[in-house]
Amino acid sequence: MTTSSKYVGRLAPSPTGLLHLGHARTFLIAQQRAHAAGGKLWLRDEDLDLQRARAEYAVAMREDLHWLGITWQQEMRQSDRLPAYRTAMQQLVAAGRVYKCSCSRKDLLSAMAAPHEDSDDEPVYNGRCRVADPAHLLEENANYRFRVNDDEPVEFVDLAAGPQRFICGCAVERSDFGDFLVWRKDGLPSYQLACVVDDAAMHITEVVRGRDLLKSTARQLLLQRALGLTTPQYFHCELMRDDNGIRLAKRHDALSLRTLRLSGISVAELRARLEL
Ligand code: GLU
Repeated sequence: MTTSSKYVGRLAPSPTGLLHLGHARTFLIAQQRAHAAGGKLWLRDEDLDLQRARAEYAVAMREDLHWLGITWQQEMRQSDRLPAYRTAMQQLVAAGRVYKCSCSRKDLLSAMAAPHEDSDDEPVYNGRCRVADPAHLLEENANYRFRVNDDEPVEFVDLAAGPQRFICGCAVERSDFGDFLVWRKDGLPSYQLACVVDDAAMHITEVVRGRDLLKSTARQLLLQRALGLTTPQYFHCELMRDDNGIRLAKRHDALSLRTLRLSGISVAELRARLEL
């Protein structure tokens, strides 16, 4: 089939810890879907978190992926792509879609509208730094936010999770996210901006990732529209939980692929445990 031969997927781990069972499940599904469509996969090293990214984790994630039998055809490292992110950011500035935000971490926490069930997600921003005039310049040492339309629904159909609908806005009671960070004062793009720029540059046709990122997808759709980029399909896998119902995160060392592998588990046993 000509359409399926164009399938391009990606694995996008962050080298901030050891990969765990949840990553294994998501990445094995990504590989299955790419194979089923006769497509290819990229490995994207999401190493922009300068505080937490470590070269040894980047090596470990490659080893763990190879052990799982996952292969990819091309690689990209986000820290090599800073000029592309800056160009996209300049485009948002020129289009008047962003503003400078001087809120501190403390301001943001106290401005948090409601406790968030998704602790990884940024708090809904209350719009404190929204100004009449958008930014005209990309200055050094400043955070920038993308301005959303208050009360606008963002909808998409996820191939795994079904129809999705999120409401954006800063001053809206039932908002899922407010104006969100696109550029950080350390001169780096936020995850949301880097992700859409890279997915477009890699010609990704389908994004397979965990369900914790559904709300990020809504933000990414807004950025794609603002930058005139194509939107890929999305397949958000169910998250894995430990025996206490807690979502697996990198701090659960006992469930890291490394620990499991060293304990002698085979890939076949692991796949059976993941029901794949
Ligand atoms: N690097 C992100 C993570 O490890 C995944 C981002 C994505 O797939 O878009 O959670």
